[in-house]
Amino acid sequence: MWKIDLMKSTFPANIAQKILQIPLAETLGADFQVWKGELSGELWVRNAYKLLQIASSDPNNILIQVDLKNFYKQLWNLKLPSKITITVWRASWNYMPTLVNLRSKRVADNTICPHCRSGEEDISHVFRHCPVTTKVWQMLELSWVNNLMIQSFWDWVTWIFRGVFINNVDYFTAEYGSCGG
Ligand SMILES: [Zn+2]
Repeated sequence: MWKIDLMKSTFPANIAQKILQIPLAETLGADFQVWKGELSGELWVRNAYKLLQIASSDPNNILIQVDLKNFYKQLWNLKLPSKITITVWRASWNYMPTLVNLRSKRVADNTICPHCRSGEEDISHVFRHCPVTTKVWQMLELSWVNNLMIQSFWDWVTWIFRGVFINNVDYFTAEYGSCGG
């Protein structure tokens, strides 16, 4: 059985609704492991080795792996309401219902940001470039996050995390610590 209350308190209503629609197995069965690298789902050491070689021959992959690991470790260690950590997690994967994302799912036609009408509403616009957002960062005295030298959203998010964790781990948690989960 889904824990409906937990789902509803963790995810936005529309997402919770979708998750709750996923049918669960009616009979109990043991979980088993499936290897994604092979269509059959079976693990072949030879092929796993080949995949590892491809991945490790590219130094960017190693850096991305370390970045990913550190970022998500820091994120889940933050004592913030799960709603906020999950929003950051979703943003980091670009799993947000921005108008640009909704258009790619053929749910929306118009992608112009309804707040400023000066740009397309993608993840970077929502969190960085929208004048409304810039104003909010300013009011929170967090204008330093508006570093326009950094292009990609992922680089920007991880850059903020590095800054926050080097300077003061409690920078954000102090504000939200008392809100509860
Ligand atoms: Zn805007």
